[in-house]
Amino acid sequence: MEMWFYEKHIPGAGICLKIKKTLYSKKSKYQEVQILETEEFGRMLVIDGMVMTTERDEFIYHEMLVHVPIFTHPNPENILVIGGGDGGTVRELVEHRDIKKITMVEIDKDVIDASKKFLPGLSGQLNNPRFKLIIGDGIKYVKSSTGKFDVIILDSSDPVGPAKELFSRDFFKNVYRCLKPDGILVAQTETPFMDKEVIKKTYKILKKIFPLVKLYFAPIPTYPSGMWSFAFASKKYDPLVNFDIERAMDKKFPTKYYNEDVHRGAFMLPEFMKRLVR
Ligand code: SAM
Repeated sequence: MEMWFYEKHIPGAGICLKIKKTLYSKKSKYQEVQILETEEFGRMLVIDGMVMTTERDEFIYHEMLVHVPIFTHPNPENILVIGGGDGGTVRELVEHRDIKKITMVEIDKDVIDASKKFLPGLSGQLNNPRFKLIIGDGIKYVKSSTGKFDVIILDSSDPVGPAKELFSRDFFKNVYRCLKPDGILVAQTETPFMDKEVIKKTYKILKKIFPLVKLYFAPIPTYPSGMWSFAFASKKYDPLVNFDIERAMDKKFPTKYYNEDVHRGAFMLPEFMKRLVR
């Protein structure tokens, strides 16, 4: 008997993936956390029925979420990650030797535990000496934190459940305050194909708070529509003007998606995305 996982993105469209077996399934304090073995995409983390990450295509998302801001900031030492429970963002961050401290605020310890047990390729750096884990709500954390981060990375689930307020004006105002005077925020901001309103609203909020806001995108096969967007919000540095191409070309670690051309190309928006942020 065949087993299929499907995620309905909008009433009339979704994704379906053939499943070999369920490796983990638990109702945590916040959400339903599952890890499924898929036929085509390796192991997959699913939260409340939504694809979070798969072993086969996660590199695109995590490389683009991390290396774009880190190669733009001239001296990224102190980094905050909000969400990111699978560990993929931290794995990419520790590749950068100039980063001294990575703090991750993840609300659900069950996501961390499941990823450590079943997704070693993503969670392998969650014991790195430069890494500090805080199990807590990112919304509360930025309220009480002070301006000490060079880069803040919002690696949250979709804007529902515990992640709902992570796309709010108050949250982004607190993030702004937690950044140093030349700090950068990047956030995953859903799909331009099916979540136009989320992108328009988030971009509008960020434009009122940060002097420089740009959208960039990457193809992520297992995310709704396969086209994903990220917001780059900066107090000072421009990801195209201040991008240190020498540093990126001279990087001492391998990537499978990110390079200096992709960095710049990701900000060359197709017309329908330009219209979203015009
Ligand atoms: N790459 C995925 C995506 O784009 O959908 C998200 C990766 S990660 C699994 C998302 C994480 O955000 C989850 O582990 C979830 O528990 C966490 N999260 C959701 N709301 C949060 C909050 N308010 N504070 C901290 N972490 C939160």
